[in-house]
Amino acid sequence: SNRREPVMTMSHSSSLANGAVGSDGPKEDQKRTVTEELLGKMTADALVWSALHGLVVGDRRVPRSGTVPGVGLVHAPFALLPMTFPRSHWSQARELAPIFNELVDRVSLDGKFLQDSLSRTKKVDAFTGRLLDIHSKMLEIKKTEDIRLGLFRSDYMLDNETNLLFQIELNTIASSFPGLSCLVSELHRNLLDHYGKDLGLDSREVPGNTAVSQFAEALAKAWGEYGNSSAVVLVVVQPEERNMYDQYSLSTIFPVQYFSTNIRRTLAEVDAEGQMLSNGTLLVGDQAVAVIYFRAGYTPNDYPSESEWAARFMIEKSSAIKCPSISYHLAGTKKIQQELAKPDILERFLDSEEDVAKVRKCFAGLWSLDNYEGVKAAMEKPELFVLKPQREGGGNNIYGDDVRETLARLQEKGSEELAAYILMQRIFPTASRSYLMREGICHQENAISELGVYGAYLRNRDKVIMNQECGYLMRTKVSSSDEGGVAAGFAVLDSIYLT
Ligand code: ADP
Ligand code: MG
Ligand code: MG
Repeated sequence: SNRREPVMTMSHSSSLANGAVGSDGPKEDQKRTVTEELLGKMTADALVWSALHGLVVGDRRVPRSGTVPGVGLVHAPFALLPMTFPRSHWSQARELAPIFNELVDRVSLDGKFLQDSLSRTKKVDAFTGRLLDIHSKMLEIKKTEDIRLGLFRSDYMLDNETNLLFQIELNTIASSFPGLSCLVSELHRNLLDHYGKDLGLDSREVPGNTAVSQFAEALAKAWGEYGNSSAVVLVVVQPEERNMYDQYSLSTIFPVQYFSTNIRRTLAEVDAEGQMLSNGTLLVGDQAVAVIYFRAGYTPNDYPSESEWAARFMIEKSSAIKCPSISYHLAGTKKIQQELAKPDILERFLDSEEDVAKVRKCFAGLWSLDNYEGVKAAMEKPELFVLKPQREGGGNNIYGDDVRETLARLQEKGSEELAAYILMQRIFPTASRSYLMREGICHQENAISELGVYGAYLRNRDKVIMNQECGYLMRTKVSSSDEGGVAAGFAVLDSIYLT
């Protein structure tokens, strides 16, 4: 069951958080007993540290916590100790980052590939349809983006049976937690500095995390390329945002020498206050915008009226640098992920055979639902698959028996409906014992993890200004939970302990 037992009320002592439950876990000598007393000290220290260092989110029980900074804060859910992760797979995931950066850029330039790949999805998925409409209008007016900025996060799970690292998805819009992930790494290093001896763990095995400063650097460099020193960075946000401190931690470290300010607006506010001048300049009020950084706009909920669509369209037409552009956004859809996994497609976008091999190696089984073999296999063994619509933000996928039921229902409706989904091989990471902290309570759980590696890409015409791997995010969740989002309430923030 999903019920979580508070560890602090248990009378017996328990073994180390990251000791794997299966046989592939750390050697016995690496495990140490964590006494109730030690756990109590670490928990208290970690909670204080979180509060003092801004490892916080808005508390959903407090009404204004999503709109007024400083009101109704609670520590972000986090794992008390870092999750073990093999050094070799860590290197593999990091090496992939610049290759995926380049891949997204190349795919984004092939308007026909994006349109063709998503044409069937468009018919049955109104949201993807609207995005695609904006994209086709840009193709019509031959809009080009000379300066292109991507802030991505590629997510992976390590498959228990094959010991292979598989990509779960590639986020090209609103990749979250560059700020809080750095704080969790710091918290873990700090705890191990204090308690590492007792635990048999060394804080140096938790890799430093520079996601927040590297993302800020990419935004600042993009701002510099735009070349208007009085223009601002516009952060597009949701009207209510409990993850605002992650966003603020990024925008408050923008190097001040580059620009004086950044502003936050919802899409509705951009529609109300914004205009595009005939030379392409985007104004919000009387401020010219150099860079638009989307932390909203990835879900249909972000477009409750035509006003939001009008704002998105105006932004896209303008000369401001969009992070992401509509093409970068579409290149990160699950449908495109599945199309890229087809034979001979990667070769069209990547020049180096070596890069193609590296990327292909991390692709799990992916099928469109007009693939008879894939659907048949999923009907027979639905527990081995995940059914995914073209959605972001967690909580949208279909698992287990629901896969079979949904497939059967969609097939009845006719094959058109199937085009809204892709089918993916389900990955099963090894479960480990972990201490998950929520609202001040420590829960001991059997947990699995998903590693995200951030990437930043910036180019101006032929010049690649930045193509970097930019730190990481580990998310850990109860092994019995299907979904994984932190904001969606399934997972906690974590870091890694290299083995
Ligand atoms: P989203 O864009 O909503 O985050 P994801 O593809 O990342 O969509 O799926 C959400 C969560 O579902 C992931 O964080 C992961 O926990 C789980 N998940 C997705 N795909 C798989 C898979 N192939 N195998 C196992 N779990 C998966
Ligand atoms: Mg996503
Ligand atoms: Mg995801």
